[in-house]
Amino acid sequence: MRSQDYDRLYLSPPHLGRHEINYIQKAIEDNWVAPAGPNLAGFEADICAATGVPYCVALNSGTAAIHLGLILLGVGPGDEVLCPSFTFVATANPIVYLGATPVFVDSEPDTWNICPKRLREAILDRIARGKKPRALILVHLYGMPAKLPEIVALAQEFDIPILEDAAEALGSEWQQQPLGGFGRVGVFSFNGNKILTTSGGGALVTHDRALAEKARFLATQAKDDAPHYQHSELGYNYRLSNILAGIGRGQMGLLTERVKRRRQLFDWYREHLARVPGLTVALAPEPAGSRSNRWLTTILLGPPDPEADGPAAPAVTPETLRLHLETRNIESRPLWKPLHLQPLFAAAPMYGGAVCEDLFARGLCLPSGSAMTDGDLRRVKEALTEALE
Ligand SMILES: *Cc1c(COP(=O)(O)O)cnc(C)c1O
Repeated sequence: MRSQDYDRLYLSPPHLGRHEINYIQKAIEDNWVAPAGPNLAGFEADICAATGVPYCVALNSGTAAIHLGLILLGVGPGDEVLCPSFTFVATANPIVYLGATPVFVDSEPDTWNICPKRLREAILDRIARGKKPRALILVHLYGMPAKLPEIVALAQEFDIPILEDAAEALGSEWQQQPLGGFGRVGVFSFNGNKILTTSGGGALVTHDRALAEKARFLATQAKDDAPHYQHSELGYNYRLSNILAGIGRGQMGLLTERVKRRRQLFDWYREHLARVPGLTVALAPEPAGSRSNRWLTTILLGPPDPEADGPAAPAVTPETLRLHLETRNIESRPLWKPLHLQPLFAAAPMYGGAVCEDLFARGLCLPSGSAMTDGDLRRVKEALTEALE
């Protein structure tokens, strides 16, 4: 079997530039083959420069960054943490690592992110039941900024700290301000499918120097300041390798270009799929003030018949579309399956649900890698048109 199928169009494969190899080579020549070294400091400085957030700790995954971030916000056993249902499971798993419970909230239809109205309802109801949520995880799905002013105001009103899961949103902006710095802690992922990658990796950013120092301490086994191995706190082995940080240095230099290309792909799809019957290229408008990195272009089947009650039942489902694309060797994926529908979280509280359930029933993610050519785009369009006609 070939290790890579060159004819296959992947959803969001890694896209390397020319300089990653130089940083790796230098790390090997200088023997910095460890979770310490100059690429780490350089990668962290690059992330600070790109996001405008003053402190950064590079970690070995976005999931690890969420885990440490929740610890920094004081989440522990028995706590409740507010979280959108419509997201990747890695947003919520660290809540459970800490013995806390996720409280899921539906999306709003404009950006598909956590709904401020439902969020208020959830906060008031949890308080009425005797427990104020300890933290709020805010996700910008597919790179689209959530409704920041409303959500930040709610968090302030109830004094609930925000962990901003910007794993999919590196390079996205709200009012010209990069995402990731709107909470007490922000998180990025450099997994292989993200807009930039270190193969696997993550980062925690914060405006608070003490929080950053604490994160670095916890990520390196929580070694106390002593000549021998002395530990007073529970630590983790979450630091990124200096080799992978070298890939990250090369990648960070490409962020502007990569965002530009993903936005071009989105515009191409929107223009060329507009006349394919039964298809809506979703997230078409960016709400005023928002600029998405368009990490993935997504489509919705439908739109639902306004006369019908309940979600529309389109003749072509996302799954039949996906299977047809597969016969053309094109990878596509359903939108994230809402977490309140996952067996893992069957017992967790959920506020609303109709919006994200409808998105899941009608949506599909299209190939969106920044290395795609115009020929690749035409291939996807032809396959979609075949399936829908
Ligand atoms: C990818 C992703 C994560 C997890 O990042 P990893 O680096 O894969 O651990 C968390 N949240 C969201 C929304 C993601 O898309």
